[in-house]
Amino acid sequence: MVPHLHAPQNLPGLSSAGQLSLVHWPHQCEVIRDRIEHIDWTPPRPEPLYTPMGLEMKPSYQPAGEGTVIYLTEEANKDSGFVYSQVRGLSPSKQILHQNGDNTLIFEARFESGNLQKVVKVNEFEYQLTLRTDLYTSKYTQWYYFQVSNTQAGMPYRFTIVNFTKPDSLYKRGMRPLLYSEADAKKHNVGWRRTGNEIKYYRNNAGQGGQQYFSLTWTFQFPHNRDTCYFAHCYPYTYSNLQEYLVAISKDPVKSKFCKIHILCHSLARNIVYVLTITNPHEGDKDTKRKAVILTARVHPGETNTSWIMKGFLDYILGNSGNAQVLRDNFVFKVVPMLNPDGVIVGNHRCSLAGQDLNRKYKSNLKEFYPSIWYTRNMIKRVMEERDILLYCDFHGHNRKKNVFVYGCERKQQAKAPNLHPRVFPLLLSKICPDKFSFPDCRFRVQKSKEGTGRVVMWKMGISNSYTLEASICGSKLGQRRSTHFNTKDLESVGHHFCDALLDYCVPNMKYYLCLKEHEEMVKQQAKVNSEGLNSDVLDRDSSTQTSNSSDSCDLVAHQLKLGTKRYVVTLVLSAVSIRLILPHCLLPS
Ligand SMILES: [Zn+2]
Repeated sequence: MVPHLHAPQNLPGLSSAGQLSLVHWPHQCEVIRDRIEHIDWTPPRPEPLYTPMGLEMKPSYQPAGEGTVIYLTEEANKDSGFVYSQVRGLSPSKQILHQNGDNTLIFEARFESGNLQKVVKVNEFEYQLTLRTDLYTSKYTQWYYFQVSNTQAGMPYRFTIVNFTKPDSLYKRGMRPLLYSEADAKKHNVGWRRTGNEIKYYRNNAGQGGQQYFSLTWTFQFPHNRDTCYFAHCYPYTYSNLQEYLVAISKDPVKSKFCKIHILCHSLARNIVYVLTITNPHEGDKDTKRKAVILTARVHPGETNTSWIMKGFLDYILGNSGNAQVLRDNFVFKVVPMLNPDGVIVGNHRCSLAGQDLNRKYKSNLKEFYPSIWYTRNMIKRVMEERDILLYCDFHGHNRKKNVFVYGCERKQQAKAPNLHPRVFPLLLSKICPDKFSFPDCRFRVQKSKEGTGRVVMWKMGISNSYTLEASICGSKLGQRRSTHFNTKDLESVGHHFCDALLDYCVPNMKYYLCLKEHEEMVKQQAKVNSEGLNSDVLDRDSSTQTSNSSDSCDLVAHQLKLGTKRYVVTLVLSAVSIRLILPHCLLPS
């Protein structure tokens, strides 16, 4: 039996006034009042990746006692056996007071989606930064977003973030941090842009007791004196940004006719998790012939690029183009644009306020602990009762690989019908956006460690086209976009192309039939390889990085929440390592 929701409520919070009061924080977080806003801007040309010169320095970690602590938002808490993140409401420790003539930078991150724990001034222009781990955990430092003021133009600053825990990073392969200058935004209408020279990502000397830490260092110059600037790992997209976007839809007399916004559930901090139903109004009683498409994003808060892809998708599907009309006539879209609003608000990288990776909880029945996951699964079950689901896709950001690609699910004996074959849709996408989407990067295996993910659970519930879409947090290796960063317009275009691929899929054209033919060829090659006794998979080519950063990093250590006691126990789970054959390239389709 599938439990049903209450009747949908109208948006009580989505009034033009008092939106910010709707952003609920955990009570122990201290938040500044200022509303942080950024202008939309796209660089005139794609921004190139950084090319290492070989002369980059590796500043060593300055232990406690060295340098001056100028910013501190939390204290380590050792009560429960290990250190976990907590933001304490003790103002004096936050920020040193500045006297006139002091050129020390002023840091701030106590705003929505901000993340910065501590800053040590090493010397006049050099600062050592520590990121806050996900709230109530001791891990997942990756996302950063903070404000810097009291700047001096043209001086040789160096920032070094010292507590990353991943050995590999796209900063090793040309990714540059993002900078936003309020003066440039005001005077020149310039927004987020790539910055940094002498970029280096390396293992540092901070580790103790087996734990290894990695530093990211870069040099840069501020464009203006006495400016307020921001740095971020990827283009921020906050819960407030989403709410504003939804307010605009609900106020639009046209869009509000075919896009209904409802409350899916409330998060642990009582923030609203929204679900959008998008389809053209139908004539007659029943529209059950329309298939459903389910899309979700931001289960991992630090993967902000997925909100830009989702925005691109929504802009397209809610637009007035003929293609959007056809899609709305043919499908019912169910969209959960932000699965983890609490994590987004507090500036987490991966977890919810339960200290857990929600993309491992799709099998869980703990509705109270993982409400957005339980209600999403339940919503999908209800949709399945009334109509077929053509496709499910959960959007993610990838922190180690370039390009955009998907993970799908495939059986050894795949059904013959091509529209049930999970490789056809991504193949179409790769034809539509060849400079960004890479079919060779797609994988279709179901690994044990991924059994709790949305993708695998929805597939097992019967959705053949069940995907995790992965978009590099950095950029592309393909075609004309080789060695350039993705900007927000690029990410939005991925959302548009997703719609184009759906259209080709539901209104088959030449492109669709060419993809089917190419797919058939691949299947034949696979059969040939099988008959020759090679125990490998010609369709899943590259054996190098099989696993996704966005879904594996938590497999090694999983937190187990003891119900009711608020004590956290660390459980070790060994992740399966698969050893695979590497096929010679001549066997691979080009
Ligand atoms: Zn992810």
